[in-house]
Amino acid sequence: MATIFTRIINGDIPCYKIAEDDNFFAFLDINPLKAGHTLVVPKRETDYLFDLEDDDLTGIMLFSKKVAAAIRIAYPCNRIGVAVLGLEVPHAHIHLIPMDSMEDVNFKNPKLKFTPEEFREIAANISKYVIL
Ligand code: 5GP
Repeated sequence: MATIFTRIINGDIPCYKIAEDDNFFAFLDINPLKAGHTLVVPKRETDYLFDLEDDDLTGIMLFSKKVAAAIRIAYPCNRIGVAVLGLEVPHAHIHLIPMDSMEDVNFKNPKLKFTPEEFREIAANISKYVIL
């Protein structure tokens, strides 16, 4: 069965999209640690990041770099934290999280709640700065 992220990529489940190219897709995490918390996933379903083919592993990092640059413009911060956990959804994904301190990327923190309108605004705010 397709993962929830594949269903998002295919448009079967809605998301707040940031960007996509032929191989990768970026969208807001629905349970964000910070405004702008984004997930980057490969379109080809693979559970474990390090099982990606070398080209896709390189590609997802280069795609993430472009998305991270856009997040940093939209949400100025010290840097964009990068995390790979993957314990919840068996589809490789990279978390990109605006951070000013270690505490900002503590996954034990309570997640932020945004209205659909707020999520839409955040996604629009970031996506307008993405240059692929
Ligand atoms: P992980 O597998 O890295 O531990 O966590 C998966 C992440 O995916 C979580 O941060 C969770 O909020 C996010 N997530 C799970 N289901 C959905 C979904 O349906 N839509 C979006 N946008 N994010 C999701």
